Amino acid sequence: MMIIDGKKEAENLRQKIKKEIDSLKSKNKKVPGLTVILIGDFAPSQIYVKNKEKSAKEVGINSNVVRYSKDVTEEEVLKKIEGLNNDTNVSGILIQLPLPPQINKKKIINAVSPKKDVDGFHPMNVGNLSSGHDALVPCTPLGCLYLIKKVEKNLSGKHAVIIGRSNLNGKPMAQLLLKENCTVTIVHSKTKDLKQECLKADILVAAVGVAKLVKEDWVKKNSIVIDVGINKVGDKIVGDVDFDTVKDKSRAITPVPGGVGPMTIACLLKNTLDCFKAR
Ligand code: NAP
Repeated sequence: MMIIDGKKEAENLRQKIKKEIDSLKSKNKKVPGLTVILIGDFAPSQIYVKNKEKSAKEVGINSNVVRYSKDVTEEEVLKKIEGLNNDTNVSGILIQLPLPPQINKKKIINAVSPKKDVDGFHPMNVGNLSSGHDALVPCTPLGCLYLIKKVEKNLSGKHAVIIGRSNLNGKPMAQLLLKENCTVTIVHSKTKDLKQECLKADILVAAVGVAKLVKEDWVKKNSIVIDVGINKVGDKIVGDVDFDTVKDKSRAITPVPGGVGPMTIACLLKNTLDCFKAR
């Protein structure tokens, strides 16, 4: 059994990105730029944005945060996005969610240029991913695939089961695994027999938000188990998988914390670099 060290893998990926940015900088005197739009004072968003900014700076990305009070108008934000879309120093634009109620999330996401959409939320990127074409892919599923491929390079013919069908995690995860020639099943809250479906998985990805939902007897022996969940139980953070009982049955498993989480930010940096290179 292998515990997948997401912290170490994320650090390796960040080092690789830094090296590439250093070399691009010495050739072209230019570095990627990431602009985050942060609206309001929601405490977790403040922390996420601070971490993203710090990580971006560490690899040499020129990072910038545009802050608005929670009562900013939609018009003002849209105008800002238009300016950022046309700014050649900005490679990637990230809209930190959630947004206040007066701002239409769909309108804002659709306003970001698909070429600068480092979160992979724009319909054009969603469509390209589902057509099997090149696309900017949401950072968390991208990080999950990276970790899965650290364990097994060739995923062709594997049966992947994904618990959760969100646009953020479950659906793009399914598209990525389909592209890898997996047989993919998505299960969700209306699935009849969750346990039986999960038992078919060579690769099981849990992106649910229910603490320790996946038990030892839901998991096929020697499967790869990826836990996306972040659940607060008392003063501890736990995943969607009952790690202590599942770990010995799996071939490889991600812990929470220290598994998928660190990869999400590393993949944001990767997407920003990819946007820069594509221009
Ligand atoms: P979400 O939008 O709430 O989607 C959850 C999905 O799980 C839905 O498809 C839902 O089914 C399904 N579900 C809920 N309860 C279920 C149950 N008892 N049995 C089977 N399926 C069930 O959540 P999300 O945004 O994808 O996030 C999922 C988890 O990942 C959360 O814990 C979140 O905090 C975490 N997360 C982690 C990272 C990271 O970097 N590690 C990033 C983002 C999110 P229905 O569609 O039928 O409602």
